[in-house]
Amino acid sequence: MALKRISIKTQAKQEIVDITERVARAVRESALSDGLCTIFVPHTTAAITINENADPAVKEDILSALGRLVPAGPHYKHAEGNAHAHIRASLLGHSVTVPIEAGRLVLGTWQGILFCEFDGPRQREVWVISSPAS
Ligand code: ZN
Repeated sequence: MALKRISIKTQAKQEIVDITERVARAVRESALSDGLCTIFVPHTTAAITINENADPAVKEDILSALGRLVPAGPHYKHAEGNAHAHIRASLLGHSVTVPIEAGRLVLGTWQGILFCEFDGPRQREVWVISSPAS
C-alpha cells in the first residue's frame, strides 16, 4: 500500500476542484501496476466525488443544487454556523475508489475526480491510497 498526500488551497466559500491529474501523478509515483486507488478526504466540511469535468457548468450545477437542498441558515443546532457544509459533505461522501491498470487510473471518458469545498477558503488535504490487486 502506498499513501500520498495532496495539498489543496481552496479559493472560495464553496468550490469544486478537478484533481484528476494530481491523483494520476500520485498513482504513477506509487509505481503500482494494477490495483485500486482510494481517494480519501480527511475533513468534515469537504468531500470527494466523480463526475463530469468537461463542461464546467456541471460543477456549478452540483454546487447550486446542493445549496437548494441544504441551505445555509440559523435553523441548525451546530453552533459553529457551518452545519450546511457538514451535511453537504456527508451527502457526497469522503472517499471514492478508482481502478488502476498498467499504472494508470481507469476512468470513464467524461469522468474526473472532483474535490468539493463547502466551507472555504482553507488549506486542505486529500490522501491517495494505492493498493495492489489481491
Ligand atoms: Zn462545524
